[in-house]
Amino acid sequence: MELKYIAKENSKRKVVKVKGIPVGDGDFTIIAGPCSVEDMDMILDIALWVKENGAAILRGGAYKPRTSPYSFQGLKEEGLKYLKCVSDKTGLPVVSEVIDPRDVKLVYQYVDMFQIGSRNMQNFPLLKEVGKYDKPVLLKRGMAATIEDFLMAAEYIAIEGNDNIVLCERGIRTFENYTRNTLDITAVPILKELCKLPVIVDPSHGTGRRDLILPMSLASMAAGADGVMIEVHPCPDNALSDGEQSLNLKDFKAIAERLNSTKECFLDTRSK
Ligand code: PEP
Ligand code: MN
Repeated sequence: MELKYIAKENSKRKVVKVKGIPVGDGDFTIIAGPCSVEDMDMILDIALWVKENGAAILRGGAYKPRTSPYSFQGLKEEGLKYLKCVSDKTGLPVVSEVIDPRDVKLVYQYVDMFQIGSRNMQNFPLLKEVGKYDKPVLLKRGMAATIEDFLMAAEYIAIEGNDNIVLCERGIRTFENYTRNTLDITAVPILKELCKLPVIVDPSHGTGRRDLILPMSLASMAAGADGVMIEVHPCPDNALSDGEQSLNLKDFKAIAERLNSTKECFLDTRSK
């Protein structure tokens, strides 16, 4: 496998800054927020809560790549406006997904980090487009992507000039159906060995089950991940998307506290 732009130079790792917040500096970054931005009040309430309780970056989908065309597709630009407004109020940087190369310019105006979702990991025109901008990219692993496919997708972005990329393991499709996906924790040390980019884990999409968020977040930390991205909703049972895997506010607080109190134990594995 030939890597040029995301290869480690002199074994040096890349620290990606998201509006000043470092990812990959040896600390453990928590990104949290709803699957979808649903309205202004909910995104503001979530942002204030997760900020108070240990999150450094806010997530929220405005363009939703749903499996069914009949499911909620997101608030689109209206959702981006809410995110920007909440970011200005709270100081939290925001990450949100872009699904169409034609929307990149618009999304750029509202977010601090682009997200490329699993379904678009090999959408090469989209990868090339975000590579031309000066904001960081959260690239999620395709659900049927090998480690090599994943790294090559990151290379597509970096070739265009933007190597501010954070890789996100979010589970792959296997024969197992007790979980929504099979979270490939082994990808974390492998990716960190093979390239310079920070690696985080999304245990929400990786498992599809809120009861697995804590053990899989701890496992990610132990495996050397630079952070996690977790879905949070004030009332998960009423969420417009991914309620089964979303934590309520109280459970998020408990998990974030546990992660913060545990991270010192794993400092040596994380900073490699
Ligand atoms: C998301 O994070 O909102 C999402 C849709 O995840 P994935 O692309 O990993 O399915
Ligand atoms: Mn989701």
